[in-house]
Amino acid sequence: MIHVKKLSKSFGDRALWSEIDLKINRGEMTALVGPSGSGKSTLLNCLGLLDSPSTGAILYEGQDITQFSKREVRLFRREVLGYLFQHYALIENATLEENLEVATKPRRALRNKTRTAIAEALDRVGLAGREKDKIHYLSGGEQQRVALARLIVQQPALVLADEPTASLDHANTAMVVDTLREMSRDGCAVVIATHDDGVRDACDVVFAVHEASVTSTRRTVPEELVSQS
Ligand code: ADP
Ligand code: MG
Repeated sequence: MIHVKKLSKSFGDRALWSEIDLKINRGEMTALVGPSGSGKSTLLNCLGLLDSPSTGAILYEGQDITQFSKREVRLFRREVLGYLFQHYALIENATLEENLEVATKPRRALRNKTRTAIAEALDRVGLAGREKDKIHYLSGGEQQRVALARLIVQQPALVLADEPTASLDHANTAMVVDTLREMSRDGCAVVIATHDDGVRDACDVVFAVHEASVTSTRRTVPEELVSQS
C-alpha cells in the first residue's frame, strides 16, 4: 500500500536517515525501532505529512504523497490517516463521547451511525457506558483507550502510532497492541514507532531506523494476509 523510496532526511549537513526503502502493507503491523533520536518520529511524521523528507518519495497506492497539494493533503489526512500518540491527544475538558464525535464529523457516511459506533468502540476498549465522563478524570491508560476507540470509530486505512505504549502499564499496553492487531486484521496498515521490545515482537515487520541502509526484517506473517498487499 505504501512504498517508501530512497527517503532521506537531513537537518543542515547532518543526515538523520538516508535512502530508506520500505514497503508497508495492509494487514500488517510494522514496527519502527531505534534508539532515541534515531528519527523514528520524524519518519512517522513524514508518512503522516506532518513533516517533509529532504529527498525521496512516499508512494501511497502509486501516488507520491510528498507532492500532494494542500487539498490532497487534507483529504489524505481525513480519509486515510489515523494517529495514536504517546500523550493521547484528546480534548481534556470534553467528554469521551465528544472526543469520539470529533473522529466522525468529517465523514458523512458515518454521521447517522455515530451513537452506535461510539458505544461499540468504547465497549471494545473496556469503557462501555462511560460516554459522559470527562477526559481529565481518566487515568493515562484509560485515556489511551479513548484514543484507541477514536481510531476504531474513524476506521482509517493507515494508522501511525508514535510510542503509543510508552506511558502505559502492562494491561493497557496489551490492550493497545491487541486493538491495533484487530484493526490490521480488518485490512488496515499499522506503523508503530516503539522502543518496547514486547510491542516490537508483536509486529510482523521490524524496521530499524538507525540501520536504515539495512532492509526490514520480516517476521512470520500469516499467508492469507500476504496476498492482500
Ligand atoms: P526518535 O523519535 O527516534 O527519538 P526524532 O525523529 O524525534 O527521533 O528526532 C530525531 C533527531 O532529529 C533528533 O536528534 C532531533 O534533534 C532532530 N531534529 C528533529 N527536528 C529537527 C529540526 N527541525 N531541526 C534540527 N534537528 C531536528
Ligand atoms: Mg520519537
